[in-house]
Amino acid sequence: MLKFLLPLKILKLKAFRTFGLKPLQGLRGRGAEPHSLGLQSHPMPINFTISITNKCNAHCKTCNIWRIYEEQPSLSKSELKKEEFERIFESIGRSAYWFTISGGEPFLRKDIVEIYEALVHHCSPNIINIPTNAITPKLIEKRVREFLEINNKSTLIVNLSLDGVGDKHDEIRGVNGNFKKLLDTYEGLKALKEDFENLRLGVHTVISIYNADHIPAIYNFVRGFKPDSHIFEVAEERVELLTIGSGITPDHETLSEAMTGINKDIRSNYLKSGDFLSRITQSFRLEYYELMKKALNEKRQIIPCYAGYASCQINPYGELWACCILGSKSSFGNLRDVDYDFNKLWHSKKAYEIRASIKRRECYCPLANASYTSMLCNFSMVGKVLSTLIKSYFPFP
Ligand code: SF4
Ligand code: SF4
Repeated sequence: MLKFLLPLKILKLKAFRTFGLKPLQGLRGRGAEPHSLGLQSHPMPINFTISITNKCNAHCKTCNIWRIYEEQPSLSKSELKKEEFERIFESIGRSAYWFTISGGEPFLRKDIVEIYEALVHHCSPNIINIPTNAITPKLIEKRVREFLEINNKSTLIVNLSLDGVGDKHDEIRGVNGNFKKLLDTYEGLKALKEDFENLRLGVHTVISIYNADHIPAIYNFVRGFKPDSHIFEVAEERVELLTIGSGITPDHETLSEAMTGINKDIRSNYLKSGDFLSRITQSFRLEYYELMKKALNEKRQIIPCYAGYASCQINPYGELWACCILGSKSSFGNLRDVDYDFNKLWHSKKAYEIRASIKRRECYCPLANASYTSMLCNFSMVGKVLSTLIKSYFPFP
């Protein structure tokens, strides 16, 4: 049902960002919250990321999340409990189109299945996306089967992180044998696809200074085993990943060089051979890759960013952020402090201040998750994607 309402929600989000609808102050003054009366002053986000743990069993060169509990083990006790997640999901309700369950390594949460079940029960999103480092093939396969047995309505995308072929992957991820385990995870999940048609398998590659010269090799390798999708994202310095000042982002020239051949191949081969869903996904990707390169080169928001309007992130301790790049700098507050009422933070004064800063384009980044939502909310981008899609049906290059 929600997918039919998506264009309408996008129009409302666009109006909200463009005209800056204010909270209904008159009601506030009389002690009533607009959302408690069903009169929301602006739309809810369509794209949520919940980070359910900061535990991680990898030691990636491009991310320092794994250090958090090595340095402060007791902090892990502060992560949201499943009952707390349930209350948050209840307050979010059915507004979400897309939910990402991330980490750390999300499969390390022993209660991930219960969290997943609560999410499906209260929010019923169209798409649930779970990234994984694929270090524990059997556990991941077992959990994914449990997810699929709970819910066959949402599309479940499991994205395996691949940053190199063979030893290169293990070296970047800091785990001997990770590459082999990733292949085992892929095979196990691929077998599940035969029983569950709502499962999609993706591969996610982070382009960093450690693998920028290795990107065509990764692309060709992944094309050989044909996952449902393969997305490249550029390594960014993020507050969330404790990578500020790490210098992991490749420069614009290196990135352009790495992506040129791939873009050409997607346009002339990959795009033309897939089904409709695959073609539209690839069309979005091609436009995203252009945005990613431009954002790094020009160091500005190339299209208006909808983080804090159409997308948001909840960290493992209940902080609600506009996005993970700004992390705590974009915090609307902690859900624990407002009795897990998402609406209260979403409509708070702090949220309006942070949105105003994003709207003034005081930050920029090539973050894929937020970029896709921003692209959906941008008519000219949607036009470009549709044009690429239509051209993909032409017989000539
Ligand atoms: S990128 Fe993912 S797998 Fe690697 S350390 Fe960070 S959270 Fe763990
Ligand atoms: S441009 Fe990037 S850093 Fe700024 S709000 Fe959007 S996602 Fe966050």
